[in-house]
Amino acid sequence: MKNILRSCIFAVMAIALLPAGTLAQERRDKEQTYVLEHPYEVTKITPPQGKKIKNVILMIGDGMSLMHVYSAWTANRGKLFLDNCQTVGLSKTYCANKLITDSGAGGTALATGQKTIYHAVGVDPEGRPLKSLVDLAAAKGKSTGLAVTCRLWDATPADFCCHNIDRDAEAAIVADYVNCNADYVFGGGAKLFENRKDGRDLFAELRAKGFQTPRSWEDLVTIKNGKVFAVPYSVDTPLPADRGDLLARASLKGIELLNLNKNGFFMMIEGSQLDDYGHFNDLDLLMQETHDFDRTIGEIYKWAAQDGETLVIVTADHETGGLTLVDGDLKEGKIVCKFSTGGHSGVMVPVYAFGPGAQEFTGIFENTAIFDKIKKLLNL
Ligand SMILES: [Zn+2]
Repeated sequence: MKNILRSCIFAVMAIALLPAGTLAQERRDKEQTYVLEHPYEVTKITPPQGKKIKNVILMIGDGMSLMHVYSAWTANRGKLFLDNCQTVGLSKTYCANKLITDSGAGGTALATGQKTIYHAVGVDPEGRPLKSLVDLAAAKGKSTGLAVTCRLWDATPADFCCHNIDRDAEAAIVADYVNCNADYVFGGGAKLFENRKDGRDLFAELRAKGFQTPRSWEDLVTIKNGKVFAVPYSVDTPLPADRGDLLARASLKGIELLNLNKNGFFMMIEGSQLDDYGHFNDLDLLMQETHDFDRTIGEIYKWAAQDGETLVIVTADHETGGLTLVDGDLKEGKIVCKFSTGGHSGVMVPVYAFGPGAQEFTGIFENTAIFDKIKKLLNL
């Protein structure tokens, strides 16, 4: 019965994915032109001078390579908030059994410091659960949080809180959030928290564990302290143009709450849908999402500069779409790009650091080294 059910779900998913996949196929290898009509202002943000590291904010642009960043930079007339970073390094993203990784294994490397197998989340190659930066920071008395624009069963947030050898086991994956050590979670995916086939109401279970579970932005902003699990959307958050600066607001709200802890905090913020729009080979949406992520980076840098004891790392888990910038115009904010795949490609991804400890993130290193460095700097 379970197998039949699984096949049915896969069949429905395949039909649902078909139009996007076919569309991507049609777009592949064809030049796409994008012009940013209204460029945004980018201010200079001076990094703090102190050396003490109390908090770490890890920002992951899912599928974001240098090509995405340089295309977004060109479209915004040669400026990005990301340019305020102090140091840059390169991360090698291959996983335990494949050269070209996914967000399951790629994110698990960042979250737990272990290379695992393709499509695994928060477990080693044998399927054994791994402790993430969320678990380690919580064990040291720090507060911890996640803010993403995707459904919470998606691999990147799940890598920090959930444990499964198969990222497609979505209903099982979200159930792991009930036992996660995060104090603040913001994302989409409410439909698998309630009305579940197993009869569980995960929101009720989270409330029983002391979480507040706001289901709208309006309810979230009224919360002034305590643990929060905010899931305002059934699946993903709205498209970048419709949601405004939601990722920045949701991230800063999390920081406001996590920062009440005098021991500091660890937070992961994801520009989740760069990956989706890379898979769709949709340059327009991809640039909208990249610019949204960059403006979020700007807000986080500003907060960190004021705070003085916060290290901000911006990186990616892998590249998506095989994006190539083939032409453009800096003055007009015009880019001409091609995609070479509807999947991920193999390339080192950039690691940008801002704040105390930034100098530790220069050079060429394994993706797992990002975990190692954060662990060491926070003394976890
Ligand atoms: Zn992907």
